[in-house]
Amino acid sequence: MDNIKEMIQPLLQWYQWNKRDLPWRRTKDPYAIWVSEIMLQQTRVEAVKPYYARFLETLPTVKDLAEADEETILKLWEGLGYYSRVRNMQKAAIQIMEEYQGHFPADYKKLLSLKGIGPYTAGAVGSIAFDLPVPAVDGNVLRVMSRLTADASDISLQTTKKEWEERLTAIMPEKESGNLNQALMELGATICVPNGTPRCELCPVRKHCEGYRKGDPQRYPVKAEKKARTQEYLNVFFCVYEDKIAVHKRPAKGLLSSLWELPNSGREVPVPAALQEIGILEAEIFSMKNQKHIFTHIEWYMDCYYIKVSKKTSSELVWLTKTDAETSFALPSAFRKIWQEGLSKMEN
Ligand code: SF4
Repeated sequence: MDNIKEMIQPLLQWYQWNKRDLPWRRTKDPYAIWVSEIMLQQTRVEAVKPYYARFLETLPTVKDLAEADEETILKLWEGLGYYSRVRNMQKAAIQIMEEYQGHFPADYKKLLSLKGIGPYTAGAVGSIAFDLPVPAVDGNVLRVMSRLTADASDISLQTTKKEWEERLTAIMPEKESGNLNQALMELGATICVPNGTPRCELCPVRKHCEGYRKGDPQRYPVKAEKKARTQEYLNVFFCVYEDKIAVHKRPAKGLLSSLWELPNSGREVPVPAALQEIGILEAEIFSMKNQKHIFTHIEWYMDCYYIKVSKKTSSELVWLTKTDAETSFALPSAFRKIWQEGLSKMEN
């Protein structure tokens, strides 16, 4: 435990001088910090910046988010993936409006009770916005702490995470908890990096680092092998009738639930039969580039087709103009390349 305590001051000092100037570090507004934290769980800092700016410009307050329609929030999230996160954000915003008169509660347990807010997010928002002495333990922090203490516990286990939350809670300073959490994240992002060799020669806590002292910090963290992803093989259709394109709403449960998609079917169903099933009676069929998309637990291998429809019947498909689709409907990234190729085919 001692070497963890000893790292606090040098780490805070280093952070003060070396932190990157990021938009969400210029505010104490819990709403803005929350938005940034959820987005940062999805993708890299540079990719988050435009999403963050657009989100706060469109929905600057908790109230705006609580009252927004679903298509707006999905559109703002388009390309970030994990749409359930932004749906949960809206549910939490409604909770904040109803239970806390529109103000984020400055209390760790109350933050944890909000939809979609787990220990990491509650810790980040609580410490950064309200200086609550609570840690924010994510993969970055687990890596740094495992190296600092040469701890070989498996960080993919919830118990390991919980232990680190307890150990860090015990050393959280009364003031500057937000800075300490951000300093750990910053160290993990810029010095004690996940891929490649950690930059120990630049590290402000090298003197206190057991992993470094033992000569092989990259041995840590220990992480169990992930299960292989399931592979699914699909035919995907970019269907055009006059100047309209067909989209379809996915089921309310499961992968990409309730989001729009390009019509598709399992590859075991022949293409003409699959088209009949979705109400396309006569059409010319052209091949497009095959695509692959990787989700957390599933890989999609997609054979793609441009379908020039001449006769159709009513079905679950919704037919949209290009402008409607581009401005008001969020299409998951899995279909984005097919969409772009389909649009350019339409123009030729
Ligand atoms: S000394 Fe190296 S391994 Fe230890 S915390 Fe710093 S960068 Fe990470």
